Amino acid sequence: MYDWLIVGAGFAGSVLAERFASVRNERVLLIDRRSHVGGNAYDRYNDDGIIVHQYGPHIFHTNSKQIFDYLSLFTEWRPYAHKVLAEVDGMLVPIPINLDTVNKLYGLNLNSEQLAEWFKARAEKVDSLRTSEDVVVSVVGRELYEKFFQGYTRKQWGLDPSELDKSVTARVPIRTNRDDLYFGDEYQCMPLYGYNRLFENMLRSNNIHIMTKTDYRDVKDYVPHRRVIYTGPIDEYFDFRFGRLPYRSLRFEHVTRDQPWHQPVAVVNYPQTNDYTRITEYKHLTGQQHPKTTLTYEYPSSAGDPYYPVPNAANQEQFKKYERLALATPGVWFVGRLATYKYYNMDQVVGQALSTFRRICAAVMTVP
Ligand code: FAD
Ligand code: UDP
Repeated sequence: MYDWLIVGAGFAGSVLAERFASVRNERVLLIDRRSHVGGNAYDRYNDDGIIVHQYGPHIFHTNSKQIFDYLSLFTEWRPYAHKVLAEVDGMLVPIPINLDTVNKLYGLNLNSEQLAEWFKARAEKVDSLRTSEDVVVSVVGRELYEKFFQGYTRKQWGLDPSELDKSVTARVPIRTNRDDLYFGDEYQCMPLYGYNRLFENMLRSNNIHIMTKTDYRDVKDYVPHRRVIYTGPIDEYFDFRFGRLPYRSLRFEHVTRDQPWHQPVAVVNYPQTNDYTRITEYKHLTGQQHPKTTLTYEYPSSAGDPYYPVPNAANQEQFKKYERLALATPGVWFVGRLATYKYYNMDQVVGQALSTFRRICAAVMTVP
């Protein structure tokens, strides 16, 4: 008899498995329908011996010391501050848009104060900031919005920014200084030996039994267990009773080139051209030295594995119906990006799993 059947071995499921096993000495069966643990953060050595992220670039960043300290139990870190360039009007310029972006794109020599004025002269008045279009045009105006955000977003989501919640494009800041870091968080780093090693260390307990290539549907009636943590898509758990929740997918094309480097930074975005949104070159992230280099091209798609919840009001309303069912399902906790339909980064999923653990501890103390 397992105390817990945990569905999905990404950050959500693995953190909870680790906590139950080590803090409460409970027995866990952790399953995943993929052939590996790590969920979307999984990384591996490819045939050329280069570390790649199978499901696209994963850069760790957080402002939470608690989350950073917790993950540091399972990995050492490599300092890494993420920089991204965008190919716009045939030039490679920094994104987030900053002082250098505008000066380079328009052949100007503005300082920060002048750029603030420049933005102000172009910003559109928006009464209430609601959509992913609003948050950008209200700061930099329509031209930069179209160059950097509209095409990329249409490609990435299959929707115009005006159809998406403001939180989507608001993930990317807009600056008037020369700061060219993609993230503003206090902790920015990569697991020194990769994510897979981090997960191996996290799941190394005699209380945790792992089964990959195992779907919940195929084992739920056969494996004796007392409670469930479910981290897969919530609509699937309830047999799509209220219709399919939209999740956006990607097709990843991994390519190795017989040359040491392909591009100047880890990620280059393509908001105006090509069917792919961005190219990632892993050696910038991992610090690996190798005569060849591996790249990943990301092609957005409506079909395929669910990777992103699609944030807008209609989808949130549909999710709320599933959430109400989830809350009324005893013995099952829904955690993670797919099960709570939240566009969460890794650190937020870890934070959500740790707080779920604390809530469960409080609840199961009172219910035998
Ligand atoms: P997942 O990692 O999706 O894990 C869920 C697991 O459940 C999957 O392995 C799935 O196979 C399994 N599963 C689902 N249903 C079943 C079932 N019925 N039976 C068995 N198993 C099942 N975050 C960052 O912080 N920084 C980044 O740079 C970053 N980049 C990203 C880039 C891309 C392209 C994507 C898609 C995401 C990125 N993220 C990034 C987000 C990050 O991937 C997630 O926050 C995190 O991995 C979510 O963890 P999770 O456990 O909730 O879900
Ligand atoms: N975005 C954009 N242009 C860019 C970068 C981002 O329009 O050059 C928008 C796009 O809608 C994207 C969102 O901002 O989906 C969030 O970007 P982020 O880089 O955080 O996406 P993720 O890494 O989660 O795919």
